[in-house]
Amino acid sequence: MSTTHAAMGVSIAAVTVWIAPELAVPAALGAMAGGIFPDLDVAVVAHRRTLHFPEHYWLPVALAAPVAAVAPSAVTVGAAFFALSAAVHSVSDAFGGGLGARPWRNDDQRGVYSHRRGEWIPPRRWIRYDGAPEDLLAAAVLSLPGLLLFDGLVRDLTLAMLAVSVVYTVLRKPLGELTHRYDL
Ligand SMILES: [Zn+2]
Repeated sequence: MSTTHAAMGVSIAAVTVWIAPELAVPAALGAMAGGIFPDLDVAVVAHRRTLHFPEHYWLPVALAAPVAAVAPSAVTVGAAFFALSAAVHSVSDAFGGGLGARPWRNDDQRGVYSHRRGEWIPPRRWIRYDGAPEDLLAAAVLSLPGLLLFDGLVRDLTLAMLAVSVVYTVLRKPLGELTHRYDL
């Protein structure tokens, strides 16, 4: 789920706590936004396709990372971690479940769309579906850096996302069944 991706981004950005502590907050906020950003396509056109680029996001990463290293600032570091988090998100979606209203039925073979290959990468189902108990576990573990290494806004947002994750996990199956039954 999106919140797991955001927490994963914050976990990666947490290296800045040791490398450049004065830039850790923009790094974490950039990573958080970048972790959520690809999933905005759920409301746009084609989920896990329009804003998901398992290959191409690495290009902005390759451009933004050296810029952030040479000219570290809130903007450059935030942008670099935004791109990195979006790239990791897009790749890791292939390790989750398929699309469709009820992904726990394994009735959908679309993991994430590869724009380079022009086809869907099949779901590996390490995490069976978004909002699965193991997804919540991953979100909880990946939230630890945000909760323990940060304070203020980053910690508050991490805590809020964790709360959203719990609610989403509880409602995921009933909502999926409803969506399927009424063809929403
Ligand atoms: Zn996604």
